[in-house]
Amino acid sequence: MMTALIPEETIEEIRRSLNIVNVVSEYVVLKRTGRNYVGLCPFHQEKTPSFMVSHEKQIYHCFGCGQGGNVISFLMEIEKTTFPEAVKILAEKAGIRLPEKTLSFAGQEQTKEKDILFKVVKLAAAYYEYVLFNSSAGMQALNYLKSRNIKEETARRFKLGFAPDSWEALLKFMKKRDITEEILLKAGLVTLNSDKNGYYDRFRKRLIFPIADRKGRIVGFGGRVLGASEPKYLNSPQTYIFDKSRLLYGLHLAGNAIRKEGYALVFEGYMDVITAAQAGIKNAVASMGTALSFEQARQLRLLGKDVVISYDPDTAGQVATLRGLKILKKAGCNVKVAELPEGMDPDAYIKNKGPENFKKEIIGASLPLVEYQLKKIKENYNLQKAQDKASFLRDSLEVLSEIEDILERESYTRKIEEELELTGGALRQELKKARRRKIATDNTNNLAEKGKNRSISAGFFIDPGEVAERKLISLVLANPLLLGYLKGKLKGEDFNNSVYGALFSELLYLFENGKHIDIGAFINSKRDNKVQSLLAELYFEEEEEEELQKKIVEDCIKKIFITNIGNKKKNIEAQMQEIESKKENQEINSLLQEWQRLRKLEDLFRFGEGRD
Ligand SMILES: [Zn+2]
Repeated sequence: MMTALIPEETIEEIRRSLNIVNVVSEYVVLKRTGRNYVGLCPFHQEKTPSFMVSHEKQIYHCFGCGQGGNVISFLMEIEKTTFPEAVKILAEKAGIRLPEKTLSFAGQEQTKEKDILFKVVKLAAAYYEYVLFNSSAGMQALNYLKSRNIKEETARRFKLGFAPDSWEALLKFMKKRDITEEILLKAGLVTLNSDKNGYYDRFRKRLIFPIADRKGRIVGFGGRVLGASEPKYLNSPQTYIFDKSRLLYGLHLAGNAIRKEGYALVFEGYMDVITAAQAGIKNAVASMGTALSFEQARQLRLLGKDVVISYDPDTAGQVATLRGLKILKKAGCNVKVAELPEGMDPDAYIKNKGPENFKKEIIGASLPLVEYQLKKIKENYNLQKAQDKASFLRDSLEVLSEIEDILERESYTRKIEEELELTGGALRQELKKARRRKIATDNTNNLAEKGKNRSISAGFFIDPGEVAERKLISLVLANPLLLGYLKGKLKGEDFNNSVYGALFSELLYLFENGKHIDIGAFINSKRDNKVQSLLAELYFEEEEEEELQKKIVEDCIKKIFITNIGNKKKNIEAQMQEIESKKENQEINSLLQEWQRLRKLEDLFRFGEGRD
């Protein structure tokens, strides 16, 4: 087994010394509601929180996508790690030393490989930096930086470097240090020849921008060409440690400033971030491409609610950009768009007009996303023309219908009505229709979303017997003392669903052996992710009042037995049919007797004693 090498006590110790609420809070903004915490699920996109965390039981569950489990499975899922890797990270957080050699072979290999990639990429960054500042080859790049007013101190802060104009400068440097071409390829530093018999440096004659993860570990590079060749910018390819859609350039340096300033600035390019930082605007990151991903949005949201986007004017209004901004909004951010004059990027603006003016004229004039969208739409039309006016309304309707907040929607609607001197409420009528369409589509999408990842609970709501079995387990999880009442009335074998049956047997066994049942520990101890996730789901599902619980338990027992009897009857009926065709009367008689006995038993469960 994959985890056999980490002692169970150690895992238990780690779980006990960490609070799942704190660990999850590093990724999700949680709010307390009653005895649980809720937040927006980090594993699927949603607008209303369905992600629950229990402090008491140290488990989590999302009612939207079905993800659930304990602190270890949460970390595995969110950091995309193996079990041993997750344990290792958590052990560090908890300050617990793992025994040496605890990682399994596969886990060890994977962790080792990642560690090697981190080291190699770091070494490459040091090499590029050295070349920039200490070699004649670097002069050209230094001159370029000078021409853009980047000081050495700033270049050092961002660990800028230079990849010389050579096919194998880095390759040779690495080989001398016994680093193989395969590793360099995996790190995205070299490229395999098209005829597959040789490797060459990926970055050549480029100014190098190291890209770090949230923790400040360099994971890849962006390279800007010096001179005329194409492409102007080249990034590391996707590797084990480099995933562009999960990274924001400069985030590890900007985090504190974002918290202090109360908002994050998002630029398009590396240079924008660097120039801004040099000018004292340190709360900026770059999105490396204009379409933000949900993961990037989530990382920003964790630092604060307010985000100001300042892209180059020619990309700001593009569809991909807007999609990214909507994703930010979905992640719970207040999004504003800061527009730059035509032909300017933040880098140029700050250089020409200074940081104070940038803050005042550009950030200060930023518009909420909806207002910005409406403004952009308006720019496309001449509202004096009737035809254009209609088109403007049609496009605006789409924007308005996406506003979730009713007051906000109302205020923008009124604004448009006033501006276009609309009367008679036609716009509102259309808006209502558009909203209904929107809600219907969202619901369909949500249902489709909920259908995913739910193999274990598929079909639960069809069979009333299974509904009862499920309900019973969730009741016991909420109140294990009910087992005292259930003891002698129901056994695991009575369950139709073998998973529920096994869980029931296990709980009953613990109870009968006089063990205090700690449900949190019980759920946490489950190694099978599916079972653990199911238990978390069942736990959060239960909300019955304590006085009602016994009554519901009785109903559940009844339903389970009735379903069982029904199944047995069906079985006999099938056998009888088969035998009847063979005309073996003796056997039919005994089956018939059994069938009648079951029938009576069924009535007994349904209607109680004394019916016949
Ligand atoms: Zn979810």
